[in-house]
Amino acid sequence: MLVKPFDYSRRVSLDLLCAEMGKCDKCRLSPSRCKNNMVVMPNGSTRANIMLVGEAPGKNEDECGDPFVGLCGQLLTKLLEEVGVERKNLFITNVVKCRPFDNNRNRQPDWEIEVDTCKTWLAKEIRELNPKVVVALGKVPTRLLTLQDDFKFQMRDFFKVNVVHYEAWKKDMKIVAAWHPSYLLRKGEKEREEFKECLKLAMKEIGNV
Ligand code: SF4
Repeated sequence: MLVKPFDYSRRVSLDLLCAEMGKCDKCRLSPSRCKNNMVVMPNGSTRANIMLVGEAPGKNEDECGDPFVGLCGQLLTKLLEEVGVERKNLFITNVVKCRPFDNNRNRQPDWEIEVDTCKTWLAKEIRELNPKVVVALGKVPTRLLTLQDDFKFQMRDFFKVNVVHYEAWKKDMKIVAAWHPSYLLRKGEKEREEFKECLKLAMKEIGNV
């Protein structure tokens, strides 16, 4: 079951959180935002059992205000559909809510400044949504959610573990690490199949196989 029974209080609290987050100016990325100077907001279902967490918005996301649009978002939607998941039934967000800048080119968010500041929003999203499983898309969310000190860790190490429990974020929350869709755009069929296996694993964890 990807969608929980209706809970009006959760919907209200997530709406309030998004309203507060939308105007955030806690780090140096806030002045560079495109879309009405708003952060790239999470989207999907506020009743989802599965939360997808990406790294940070890129140029397309910054311009339209939604996560995972453009080619990367299209590939994500396609791969979700191939395992029988409608994107609207998930909750999709990023570790860092504003686009990291570097001479107008996409880059990884700065760990000490942007990730460290913005992670409080992610913690609040997790608290309010109360997902059963979080799928970490790529290295930044995997490192953050699994509390990795070593930034040189390998994503493949997590595939061997498959599902990890990290109660630092929420009691009984399970984490599945998966490739980031933008990485999959550059890779072949093997990595896409691995991604789909991760999604199936997340579905199995919520009893939806
Ligand atoms: S990146 Fe996060 S902490 Fe920084 S301004 Fe945007 S929402 Fe706030």
